[in-house]
Order: sequence, then C-alpha cells, then structure tokens
Amino acid sequence: MSRINLVECVPAELEALAGRLGQPRYRGRQLAAWLFRKDVLDLEAMSDLPKEFRHRLAGEASIVVPEVKRRTSSQDGSQKLVLSLADGAQIQSVLMPDADRLTLCLSTQVGCGFACAFCFTGTMGLGRNLTAGEIVGQLAAVRPTLPAGARVTHLVYMGMGEPLANYAATVKSLRLLMDPNAFGYSPRRITVSTVGLVSGIKKLARENLKVNLAISLHATTNPVRSRLMPVNRGWGLEDLLAACRSFPLPVRQRMTFEYVLLQEVNDSGEDALRLARLLRGIRAKVNLIPFNDWEGAGFRRPPPPRILTFQTVLLEHGITATIRWSKGEDIGAACGQLAEPASTERVPA
Ligand code: SAH
Repeated sequence: MSRINLVECVPAELEALAGRLGQPRYRGRQLAAWLFRKDVLDLEAMSDLPKEFRHRLAGEASIVVPEVKRRTSSQDGSQKLVLSLADGAQIQSVLMPDADRLTLCLSTQVGCGFACAFCFTGTMGLGRNLTAGEIVGQLAAVRPTLPAGARVTHLVYMGMGEPLANYAATVKSLRLLMDPNAFGYSPRRITVSTVGLVSGIKKLARENLKVNLAISLHATTNPVRSRLMPVNRGWGLEDLLAACRSFPLPVRQRMTFEYVLLQEVNDSGEDALRLARLLRGIRAKVNLIPFNDWEGAGFRRPPPPRILTFQTVLLEHGITATIRWSKGEDIGAACGQLAEPASTERVPA
C-alpha cells in the first residue's frame, strides 16, 4: 500500500486521520496549519503535536512536495521554476509579479497529450498526471523561496498539461487551495484553463467551485481550430460554446477566452468579427496572446498593428479584450513555451 501524502489531504481528512490514530480531531487542524499555513513539512518540527502522534503519523504517512531545482529570472521580473518530483520527473511553474499581484502558474501534468500545433509543451507528449499533492505542492515548494513578505496572490492552472484531463487530482487540488483551513484562497483568485475538453467542463460545472474558467479558443471556425487543436475534432466549436453557455458563472464573474494570435492563420478582421459573434450572449472577456515563438514552431506572431486592430474590432463589438504581452518570453517561460528545462542557474540548497 502506498503511503498517504499529507499535503494532499484536506483538513477534514487530516481530522479523520487524527481520530483514527487515537487523537482528538483538532489535532488534524493543527497538522493542517503546519502544512498549509506555516510551510513546515517536517513532522519533527511540529512542536505542538504530541510525540506519540507524530511518531504514528511518520509510520503511516509521508509529506512529499516537488523540489525547486532551478530558477531562471526574466527581464520582466517573472521567474521560471523547474521542479523535480519524487520519481525524478520534472515540471515547470512560473511566478509572475504584476503591480499588486503575484501569480503562480501551476502545471497539472508532466508534458501534455493534446498536441496543439502552436504549443511547445504539446511536442513532449504526455508523461503522466500529477497527483493533487504535486499540484498544490508547487505552491508549497515555491513559497519558502519568496522574499520576506511576498505572498502568492493568484493561481492559474496554465502551466504544463490539461487540468481537465487530470480531473480528480485537479478538483482535489482546488479544494485544498480553497479550504479555509488549508491554503485558504478565494475561488476568485484561481483560474482553471482548459483546451476545451467539453466533458470536463460539464463535470466541473456540477462541482460549483466558483473558480474562474478560461477556455483556450484560438480559432473561430472548425477547420482552423481542428488544424490547430486536435481536441476540436472530437468536440467542435458548437459543443464547446454550448458547454460555456451553460456553465454556472458566479455573479460579476466572466469567463475568459484565450486566443493566441498567429499571423495569417487566425488574425484577420473577419476572425475578430466571427469571434465577437461566437461570444454573443456569454459574459466573456478575451485574452489575446501574441504567439510566443519556439524553435521549429512554424508559426509567426502578427506585427503589432495587426494585433491592435484585432483588439479594436472586439472592443467595437462590446467585447472586453486585453492583449497579454507574455511574461518570461526571454527565458522560455511564456505561454506554451514550457518543455524540457534549459540549462540555467541552480538553486543553492
Ligand atoms: N491545457 C490548458 C492549460 C495550458 S494554458 C489549456 O490549453 O488551456 C497555456 C495557454 O497558452 C493556452 O491558452 C495555450 O493555448 C497557450 N499557448 C500555447 N502555446 C502558445 C504559444 N506558443 N504562444 C502563445 N500562447 C500559447
């Protein structure tokens, strides 16, 4: 039997575990405070827990989080972190500071199986799913490396992998992030991004988690979207947008549609018009992502005037649209650039 990883237990489970080990339930909450609030991942250091309890825990459970192996800083202040998992697999997370926020971009899989044509991570194929502990463990591993006083304020599931293809672990990780006795984040500070896995969107709708949803749309016709994103061959635009329309959006929240701009592929004025039409009736905002290049990509970023024109058309049709001049492009940490770690400075132990 594999040992329980304590960082993937919600506080209620830790309470039950304490009970099972002959302790009052509040010991489980104390344990949660050490793990999720104080970033103490060593049972020996949990000084208010009875020795006996710590001893029994050590016999039954372990505390495993990814380890920060390398960190690369970008000109723009963002940082790419290469993390290694217990089995030696590597993933990447990205820290992005912005005015009053610090956003951590989480991975949900080693690699990705969806093979979007413009995405570098997609060239790796799928290694494996991450566990919920490995997903929230990225936050637990990164936090102690932050400068004093700095706090991760927002979390986006936009690193390697497709969150909804690793559904159970993703949902468990969201519950851990939101539990007031665990990480305690408001759902409004969390965004799950999906390639457009309709079955997963429908399932997520029923969980009623109130987190933000982002859809990687990237095209306005089925032929183009199917060419760029093989997932579209199974669930076309109609199915995807119908699932979006019936997704229970909390009041005052909007759904984000991501749209990577690829020169002469999906960046015309007609595309912008079609996009506005497709999103009619959805409380939507559009995030335009000028393509981030990688070697051998075979796509180009449109020139700035064309990007601005695309945005203007959307704005003229009443669609909120922002341009995400990606962060971390110089260090291969921008959207769709995460793959095998480049050689960079090592984090001193
Ligand atoms: N699998 C999820 C999570 C990844 S999020 C999803 O598809 O939404 C990463 C975002 O960056 C996605 O919108 C993805 O389509 C986009 N992206 C991938 N490669 C890119 C590239 N080279 N340039 C700009 N954006 C890219």
